[in-house]
Amino acid sequence: MTTETYSRLLAAVDFEPNGEPVIDRAQRLRALFGARLTLLHVLEHVPPAPDYMPLGFGGDLPTPDDLGLEQELVDIACRQLDVLGERLGVAPVDRLVRVGPTSHTIDEVADEIAADLVIIGSHGRHGFLGLFGSTAKAVLRSVKCDVLCVKLQDATPT
Ligand code: AMP
Repeated sequence: MTTETYSRLLAAVDFEPNGEPVIDRAQRLRALFGARLTLLHVLEHVPPAPDYMPLGFGGDLPTPDDLGLEQELVDIACRQLDVLGERLGVAPVDRLVRVGPTSHTIDEVADEIAADLVIIGSHGRHGFLGLFGSTAKAVLRSVKCDVLCVKLQDATPT
């Protein structure tokens, strides 16, 4: 009998308060398999403000990008990921912040680093038919490697 092991883990981190089990599971599996762990946080592109109307001429209306908003959000996420990385002892090279559509970017990075296991949270807050959260469901559909969906407690509605 062969023992299945994983050597390249990718944990999808959203910094939500209830996301700690994803980090905890990733850390345990890393120790168990002596694997390398990469932490990934994805930022969706900042959309233009709702009242943004392209002028069609001149094109000099400032976009969120011009205002550096997206870069500011990336910087904040990098700092948050650094704090987490330091806490877990994950090397800076394995702390990734990317901008793009979340599930697609998780797939892309999994490919890029040749991950053999993606660790992701699953809220189950989308009702019976949507057993996995939307991100987990999309990643499960498309990623080439194994996926561990960690069941998360939904925040109690206020
Ligand atoms: P959700 O689609 O909100 O149910 O999220 C489920 C899981 O997807 C989270 O627990 C994370 O593991 C992952 N995830 C969601 N959003 C992000 C994000 N922006 N960056 C990285 N991982 C994410």
